Amino acid sequence: MLTARTTGRLATRSSRQAARVTIDGRELVNFGSNDYLALAADPRLADAAAAAAEQEGWGSGASPLISGHGRSHERLEERLAEFEGTQAALVFSTGFAANAGTIAALVGPGDVVFTDRKNHASLLDGCRLSRADVRVNAHGDYEHLEQSLSKAAKYRRRLIVTDSLFSMDGDLAPLCELADLAERHAAMLMIDEAHATGVFGPLGRGVAEHLGVEERVHVRVGTLSKAIGAMGGYVCGSRDLIEWLYHRGRPFLFSTSHPPSVAATCQAAFALLDSPDGEKLIKKLWANTKYFKRLLKKRGFSTGASETPITPIHVGEAAKAFEFSRKLFEAGVYAPAVGYPTVAEGKARLRAIVTATHKRADLEKAADVLAEVGKNLGIV
Ligand SMILES: *Cc1c(COP(=O)(O)O)cnc(C)c1O
Repeated sequence: MLTARTTGRLATRSSRQAARVTIDGRELVNFGSNDYLALAADPRLADAAAAAAEQEGWGSGASPLISGHGRSHERLEERLAEFEGTQAALVFSTGFAANAGTIAALVGPGDVVFTDRKNHASLLDGCRLSRADVRVNAHGDYEHLEQSLSKAAKYRRRLIVTDSLFSMDGDLAPLCELADLAERHAAMLMIDEAHATGVFGPLGRGVAEHLGVEERVHVRVGTLSKAIGAMGGYVCGSRDLIEWLYHRGRPFLFSTSHPPSVAATCQAAFALLDSPDGEKLIKKLWANTKYFKRLLKKRGFSTGASETPITPIHVGEAAKAFEFSRKLFEAGVYAPAVGYPTVAEGKARLRAIVTATHKRADLEKAADVLAEVGKNLGIV
């Protein structure tokens, strides 16, 4: 019913992606998407997609290496560089491909890459794919990272990679301290802003903007798949970096570009972000986030270190977390459970994501249902 783990099949949604959805015939308050700004089904974006499909066709033919790319892809990359305030930007078909392909392009044998244990799977896969030596530090153990860095002077290149906003706990990486470390040890710093694009920072650029360290981060990865409501990942930085990826970013070179409609949709999303409507959506997202956390706290739940719309509800044992999620589903709330290996053993939880268009009444109803079901299961 809920995840491959509980029944061997995926939840099937018959409605649009939204703050309320229909899954397996049941109407639910939805906490199971990364659609922070409710753009995934926004009619303005759908119109942009339809217009591009009509003008430029549906498919894009082949990989950029063979076909080049279309005007809408080019315009999106220009728009991204402008949005991020960098010299250039490059779009990959997914955030996963952007991360894995970029790490593999930046380091190789004879180099070393430093990664936090809670980094996203795509960063870890990129580390493995690169064939550089990999040093993993416990989550948030920056002293250990510093020790590892001070032993790494013999390597040709050093690369530190981190999520800027950790996707399972909703906590932030201390990017100022990481930039200090990178500068002290002549390392490159690459950050993955997947959950922060469109969510954090005065202009929605992410945590680096929020903390004022954009200029000190060499490689910034953002995603088009979450708050932007479409799909894809992008890398932004210096022109040299982007030129390098044009020639070395294998998932970019050897994989077909997005349909033009995806690129057009993303442009429309960034135009919206830039407008008063976009500002309103971001404000609502944060107001809902704070409200829901308050409701949960009042009912005795722990949401851990989360400072963001990612709201983990800690349970502990995996079987119990999955049972919790199942019972919530029956009571009208969709809050997927995550267990090992996505998170450490004994750290299973529900992962509830708040969006800009959740209604207050739905958040209240959901908190009450969570409390009632949680009590029956001895969780609160
Ligand atoms: C979702 C996510 C990705 C992958 O992005 P996709 O566009 O879905 O492939 C990468 N990094 C982090 C931290 C993520 O949460």
